[in-house]
Amino acid sequence: MNLRILGYSGGYPGAGVPTSGYLLTIGKKNILIDCGSGVLAELQKYLSVECLDMIILTHLHHDHTSDLPVLRYALNMKSKRGQTILPIPVYAPKTPTEAYEGLENDPFLPVSVIDSSVSICLAEALITFHPTSHSAECYGIRVEHNGAVYSYSSDSAFEPLLFEFLRESDLSILDCGGLSNDDDPDRKHMTPDNCFYLYTDFHMKRVVLSHLIPYHSVSDTISEASALGPWPFEIAEMGKIYIIEN
Ligand SMILES: [Zn+2]
Repeated sequence: MNLRILGYSGGYPGAGVPTSGYLLTIGKKNILIDCGSGVLAELQKYLSVECLDMIILTHLHHDHTSDLPVLRYALNMKSKRGQTILPIPVYAPKTPTEAYEGLENDPFLPVSVIDSSVSICLAEALITFHPTSHSAECYGIRVEHNGAVYSYSSDSAFEPLLFEFLRESDLSILDCGGLSNDDDPDRKHMTPDNCFYLYTDFHMKRVVLSHLIPYHSVSDTISEASALGPWPFEIAEMGKIYIIEN
């Protein structure tokens, strides 16, 4: 199992940095997790769009979904040129209702609902979904394959009781869309301090801080994270690939 970062900006794309998108490859299966602004341009450096086997949208905010409508165009245009296009299943939360309904009735991208009762088996991996605390219905993801564990917090406020699914991950991508001096009392994102707490409490082996807001400087995020003590955090990098093994 491996994971490649296709976009890690939070909210809106930074210069040359798409919003959320991660390509998880399990054996020969390619799963796109979130499909934010600019993700398709990155994806095609590695894979033709029709080679995706599944798309998971952790929630229906535009910075996680906005390239899905143009993926429709791509598949439709290739089909009209005579290329055989197999449907790519999309999994997404059922709310906000209007956003979910906008995903329906696409023959190339058939959509199914995710919630905490859903689990998916693909290429001998088990994918489960875990509710987070965000301003829209949102699910973190845990993927277990051959004893290795990948997890992704998606977007969330810092509510440790929700994050049991991160436990003992070999690689975890965490929402680090805040800094400690942000003054938004309703912030629905985590800070380096929050991520450090989760790393320590849930015994994760490798942690990548992602969903970085373009108006924050990456060096501020690194400074805050470094000041917490010695811990092996990494900052998301475009195109970087992570081998996930136990
Ligand atoms: Zn969000």
